[in-house]
Amino acid sequence: AATIGIIGGGQLGRMLAIAAARLNFRIIILEPQADCPAAQLANRQIVAAYDDPAALSELAAACDLVTYEFENVPVAAAETLAARVPVYPPAKALEAAQDRLVEKRFLNGCGISTARFHAIDSQAELEAALQDFGGQGVLKTRRLGYDGKGQKVFRSAADSPDGAYAALGGVPLILESFIAFEREVSIIAARATDGAVVCFDPAENVHRNGILHTSTVPAAIPPATADAARRSAEKILAALNYVGVIGIEFFVLADGSLIANEMAPRVHNSGHWTEAACVVSQFEQHIRAVAGLPLGNAERHSDCVMQNLIGDDILAVPDWLRRADTLVHLYGKSEWRPGRKMGHVTTLTPKSPISP
Ligand code: ATP
Ligand code: MG
Ligand code: MG
Repeated sequence: AATIGIIGGGQLGRMLAIAAARLNFRIIILEPQADCPAAQLANRQIVAAYDDPAALSELAAACDLVTYEFENVPVAAAETLAARVPVYPPAKALEAAQDRLVEKRFLNGCGISTARFHAIDSQAELEAALQDFGGQGVLKTRRLGYDGKGQKVFRSAADSPDGAYAALGGVPLILESFIAFEREVSIIAARATDGAVVCFDPAENVHRNGILHTSTVPAAIPPATADAARRSAEKILAALNYVGVIGIEFFVLADGSLIANEMAPRVHNSGHWTEAACVVSQFEQHIRAVAGLPLGNAERHSDCVMQNLIGDDILAVPDWLRRADTLVHLYGKSEWRPGRKMGHVTTLTPKSPISP
């Protein structure tokens, strides 16, 4: 059987490994943490840093292709591997997604609207940029933020910027204009090696404490908005000569227009619903895409709500298991901590005939 290497051993790697096994692939993961969620499902784990030269060489020798489950794979590591074995999505996608400044410029270059933004490299630049945005904005680290970490929101001119540059670590930052969105949606799309693109239906996402809480499908958006999300995905995938699944987050304004927030060159938490409401999940779709297989049918057969099980939400699993309408998926993490993603549940309802 062909062997797929996955960089990263978290729950996304675990779910990719499950999907890959069902299509007869062997999986080798590269992950420094020995006791990781994907370890239990992979055929083999190389326990080493993501940029360890010996480990990369071992991975390239052992795999027919390599993919990844997180967007912070060192670009140099992806390029080292790519010299020896196909790496999908391409390293260019990592570059575009790892730095919020590069990402926004890339999206704007594709003709896709984002929040306005200023690069911030000092407290003085922050103060000038905030003034330009009338005292409102969202300050974020350019790199490595997730689940709303490394961010500070300025709601009005009354929110003082004093010390904010240092408080976010004195690293390169970006100030985004504050978007008064009506809702948030995301689209999960896949591009095959032959350039074919298949999109899942957009999901509507609700966050709690900066962490995704629920994804609901269909999203309460007009068909034209859903089409616009698909068209944006197509532009992004084509521009990157992309292979694999991507997740793209958007803000929806009151007039139905979209502002792109960020993209993740990988399977995405807001796409977990696909395993319950579609014949082919985002995980299988990604494996199909990178392995050069035909993309699967992304049509949903049911409406659904996916809810993350965060921290002690895990204690409610016995109740979820009693429900006939709910698929439970746990990540094999031995202990829960506040804010830690432990699993998710997807509750199905019959597909509404009028929904997009
Ligand atoms: P993720 O876990 O999705 O990777 P992240 O840490 O990368 O999150 P973002 O997605 O950039 O962070 O922002 C987190 C949330 O903060 C968004 O989903 C949105 O609710 C809010 N937010 C971010 N940027 C803005 C903005 N410019 N205007 C208004 N709200 C924003
Ligand atoms: Mg993010
Ligand atoms: Mg986000």
